[in-house]
Amino acid sequence: MRAILTPEVAPMSGVVLFRPGNELLWLFRRGRVVIETPSEAIQHLPSGLIPEAHQPLTDDVSMQSLFENERVIQRAGGIKSIDVWLEGKFECQWPHNDWHASDYTVMRHHPGSIRLCWSCDNQLREQTTERLARIARQNLVEWLIERVNIDLGFKPDHTLTLPEFCWWMVRNDLGDLIPETVASKALRLKPEIIASVTRESDIVPSLPAVEILQEKAKKIVAVNVDPETPESFMLRPKRRRWENEKYTRWVKTQQCSCCNNPADDPHHLIGHGQGGMGTKAHDLFVIPLCRAHHDELHADPVAFEAKYGDQLVLLFRFLDRALAIGVLA
Ligand SMILES: [Zn+2]
Ligand SMILES: [Zn+2]
Ligand SMILES: [Zn+2]
Repeated sequence: MRAILTPEVAPMSGVVLFRPGNELLWLFRRGRVVIETPSEAIQHLPSGLIPEAHQPLTDDVSMQSLFENERVIQRAGGIKSIDVWLEGKFECQWPHNDWHASDYTVMRHHPGSIRLCWSCDNQLREQTTERLARIARQNLVEWLIERVNIDLGFKPDHTLTLPEFCWWMVRNDLGDLIPETVASKALRLKPEIIASVTRESDIVPSLPAVEILQEKAKKIVAVNVDPETPESFMLRPKRRRWENEKYTRWVKTQQCSCCNNPADDPHHLIGHGQGGMGTKAHDLFVIPLCRAHHDELHADPVAFEAKYGDQLVLLFRFLDRALAIGVLA
């Protein structure tokens, strides 16, 4: 628990007084307290208890469209996951009725969902209003920030910062969605000041922040070329397996090669002399698959290939993309 209090300073004696009021007095009854200057994010709040986990990103208008982006929502677990998350709350979120039923349900409303009692759900179902959208949006953002926090290994109520959120985006291959304003804030780029008298030859065109960010994010894996390895001179060289965890981790963040849903696993090619004892495919020979399609492939590779195409073709297409966007360079 944290609180904002205004101190009374007695400069002569060097004593500082706080008047926390009855409900905050217990803060001081436990012994020591931490005192700090209020950050920008909370200094506008009135004196008293600071609401738990105030997330400064929720107030950032430049983040709004990002939070509502379909791919972002999908990466965080999808809209169904918001419903499940809301099912853990047992209060009706519609504040405009005096009476609420004691059973609850979840109502979808753009851009998220709303927790309602049965009675309010009856009344509001099929309606689309800005008031409802505001509640749905609040839920969406709260849920999303919690998901990102957990994904990044923080506590759910961790105060998520902009660079942390951008890192989550980059890590999940969503870097291309980050808008210029957000990217330049995260990279702490200063706005350019152009002197009033400038010769054209003095202007050095600078890269937009999004480009810098994507440039940094994309070169994940470099494949080295060495035409003269010791093995290349041997008649029967021992097989070396190309391993690259960075690459397979990235593959996992891509869309399933069969259904375009988020992938769960990098599948190492089987068949074609790969995937047997001591011949596990190189980490380069992987395609992203969701759990369902990965299971389907391992259960019956022949049936799988008849349905979705040869693994080699899927691999070729995927490698083409990885090279084309510079992930492999
Ligand atoms: Zn209600
Ligand atoms: Zn799939
Ligand atoms: Zn597999």
